[in-house]
Amino acid sequence: MSLDQISRTAYSEDHEAFRQTVRQFVEKELAPHALEWDRAGIFPREIFNKCGELGFLGINHDPKYGGSGLDYWYVTVWSEELVRSRNAGVNMALLVQGQMATPIINEIGTEEQKREFLQPALMGEKIAALGVSEPGAGSDVANLKTTARRVGDEYVINGSKMWITNGTRADFITLAVRTGEPGYGGVSLVTFPTDVKGFQVSKKLDKVGNLASDTAILYFEDCRIPVRYLLGEENQGFYHVMTNFQGERLTAAITTCAAMDQMISESIRYGSEREAFGRPIIKFQVWRHKFAEHLAAMEAAKRLTYHAVALFDAKENAVKEISMAKLFAGDLAQEVAYDCQQFFGGMGYIEETHIARAWRDIRLITIGGGTSEVMKEIISKMSF
Ligand SMILES: Cc1cc2nc3c(=O)[nH]c(=O)nc-3n(C[C@H](O)[C@H](O)[C@H](O)COP(=O)(O)OP(=O)(O)OC[C@H]3O[C@@H](n4cnc5c(N)ncnc54)[C@H](O)[C@@H]3O)c2cc1C
Repeated sequence: MSLDQISRTAYSEDHEAFRQTVRQFVEKELAPHALEWDRAGIFPREIFNKCGELGFLGINHDPKYGGSGLDYWYVTVWSEELVRSRNAGVNMALLVQGQMATPIINEIGTEEQKREFLQPALMGEKIAALGVSEPGAGSDVANLKTTARRVGDEYVINGSKMWITNGTRADFITLAVRTGEPGYGGVSLVTFPTDVKGFQVSKKLDKVGNLASDTAILYFEDCRIPVRYLLGEENQGFYHVMTNFQGERLTAAITTCAAMDQMISESIRYGSEREAFGRPIIKFQVWRHKFAEHLAAMEAAKRLTYHAVALFDAKENAVKEISMAKLFAGDLAQEVAYDCQQFFGGMGYIEETHIARAWRDIRLITIGGGTSEVMKEIISKMSF
């Protein structure tokens, strides 16, 4: 049974109709360019516009600001179907836009912030980034050093952000800054327009995978923004960053399950045609058993992820379940990708073969948005 078939137990007809719309878009507009955009190290800005026009960037956001106000299962459908683009970099950039940089504004932004930043981001007119990580603070978010000093009606921002997705061309950043004491109690969030004087993209980073998404080091030198760009209350930002991580980690788990399904399906197809020693390689028992194991484990990952989605959609506390889903799916996907690539033999090491790119792209899942070790810390702290 494919992931699609399993999904039917959780999805309504409307979800499935939405799935078809997303699938058509992804297969027509994204998938044919997968290799080209990886080689270019970027993809056209118009993709944000197209996704905005089709409502893919504001699926679960407030309709007053261009969102569709739909439930989280629609986000799950969007995340699953995106994987068909065969370009994890594009998927990451689009998910940052709709599900990582904008949910906080949707939730706690002022009317003015929503009009100025959220609405154009949901329409795909402004590109959004999420700026939390720093050269010295990735896992240890509470230790971030970028300061926002209040001077009259303005914040003066100094510091640096690291590994920021959409960073080279973001029009604004949902930015975590230090406004108070050391530690988590001194962190605030602001909306930061990148046309402010003193802001600089220091470097576009060359990555191992997810090549079509731009990832940057950002530099802030005496950048002045109005105090009205503060998101929520001063020094309460850490809580919102942690809450926001839940959506990010959940989409990571969802896309990882869909990516595993894709890798396994492609491998089984390939192995039915490729012959060695007079038989299709999928007929070798060692591989049949390997894929049987992976199908069983993937099903478990998917069930765990859907359980987390159901809790998250019901607005229940899902931190432990989301951390488990990201940990389990992320670690499993490393084994699945390795075996699928191995199964492709020499073709698995060739850039044009999707599995080669999928293998290196999936490596990010146990690192980005909270490492597997951090997931284990969360699970253990919540369990004993
Ligand atoms: C391609 C890419 C895109 C990204 N996009 C964004 C983005 O858009 N916005 C953003 O803000 N960030 C982004 N990140 C940053 C990402 O979230 C961090 O890299 C990640 O959280 C890990 O932080 P770190 O790199 O500082 O690793 P570190 O915190 O230095 O960790 C190094 C190692 O130490 C381990 N470790 C750390 N703490 C513990 C502990 N308590 N117990 C056990 N082991 C521990 C880690 O698990 C890891 O193995 C991106 C990263 C990448 C690679």
